[in-house]
Amino acid sequence: MNLDLDDEQEALRHTVEDFARKEVAPVIGGFYEREEFPYDLVAKMGRMGLFGLPVSEEHGGMGGDYTALCIALEELGRVDSSVAITLEAGVSLGLMPIYRFGTDEQKARWLPELVTGEKLGAFGLTEPGGGSDAGATRTTARLDGDEWVINGSKSFITNSGTDITSVVTVTAITGEREGGRKEISAILVPSGTPGFTVAPKYSKVGWNASDTHELSFDDCRVPATNLLGERGRGYAQFLSILDEGRIAIAALGTGLAQGCVDESVRYAHEREAFGNPIGSYQAIQFKIAEMETRAHTSRLAWYAAAAKMQAGKPFKKEAAIAKLVSSNAAMDNSRDGTQIFGGYGFMNEFPVGRFYRDAKILEIGEGTSEVQKMLIARQLGL
Ligand SMILES: Cc1cc2nc3c(=O)[nH]c(=O)nc-3n(C[C@H](O)[C@H](O)[C@H](O)COP(=O)(O)OP(=O)(O)OC[C@H]3O[C@@H](n4cnc5c(N)ncnc54)[C@H](O)[C@@H]3O)c2cc1C
Repeated sequence: MNLDLDDEQEALRHTVEDFARKEVAPVIGGFYEREEFPYDLVAKMGRMGLFGLPVSEEHGGMGGDYTALCIALEELGRVDSSVAITLEAGVSLGLMPIYRFGTDEQKARWLPELVTGEKLGAFGLTEPGGGSDAGATRTTARLDGDEWVINGSKSFITNSGTDITSVVTVTAITGEREGGRKEISAILVPSGTPGFTVAPKYSKVGWNASDTHELSFDDCRVPATNLLGERGRGYAQFLSILDEGRIAIAALGTGLAQGCVDESVRYAHEREAFGNPIGSYQAIQFKIAEMETRAHTSRLAWYAAAAKMQAGKPFKKEAAIAKLVSSNAAMDNSRDGTQIFGGYGFMNEFPVGRFYRDAKILEIGEGTSEVQKMLIARQLGL
């Protein structure tokens, strides 16, 4: 059992760490406060090849794997979650469905601009009526000649309304199966298609430099060839996309948890109270020791899930565990980190306050913590 990164993985980790520290950290607080999307940082990540990490060279990617993407996400998450989720959603939700399930024509049409980060893709599954019960989809797509006619709406869709968003994959009911069950398919909807409206961005508690919108489809017509993969496979497709995505979110959450440790150790050396650095007090030391333990455990959990995935073994349970553990670690560490900073922890100029606001969504997005527990229990035969 070897848990060390190999030379190539370590080089990638180091490159992204350097980028996050030198280029993201100095500017991201301003983007966050202005609730502005950081186009230049996204373009730089594109030039670094981060969007193409798990994609084969044949399709313009870096020829790496999903673990490489997760390594990059952990390092970004250590400094900022808005930038990290923009990459996570751009790859895991935006381009992977096309890479995994698209036809040769769809790959040729969409992947070149998505793997370079010049354009972003999004994934519209959640609807205003509910996200956890994804089978309760209400959006419909009716085949009319050689076009799908889509009606319905999607909520909270990441990367769906930027100036560089080119396509959104949406799940929709395309028919009825025997016994009245819904037939759900995934369909590619290019940005700017008539009948496809992107609402103004949400005002969010966290991830404030990332892009999130409600989408509506009103007799929106796209070619029949925009069906992603097989008709009726949409439900199975998004379940497998979400299984992978949970490992990516777990890596991001691990980064956030580790970022809280980084900041807290530094501050514990600098800040004095009662004539001594606060880090000399055991109460602070123990708090930071627990934070490091959570970040470490969370990393082991996503490494274990990624190792199973890369080995081609079933990894549903491990991915759910990793996401659950890392979102708990992110929540706990951001609370403790903010406490260590005292009043400054509540000020926007210090990253720990941003980590605190960004941690909560990790218990909600890509499957709530309750959904992760349901998945784990199901894998145990319950
Ligand atoms: C910033 C942000 C970005 C997002 N990005 C995307 C995106 O790109 N694409 C996308 O498709 N979605 C996206 N989402 C949606 C996200 O995945 C959903 O919010 C999430 O899956 C939960 O769905 P819901 O909000 O409808 O909550 P609900 O499903 O209504 O759940 C409400 C509460 O009930 C609990 N609950 C539900 N069912 C059960 C049950 N059976 N047993 C116990 N508890 C239960 C839930 O855990 C939760 O606590 C995003 C959300 C946010 C906030």
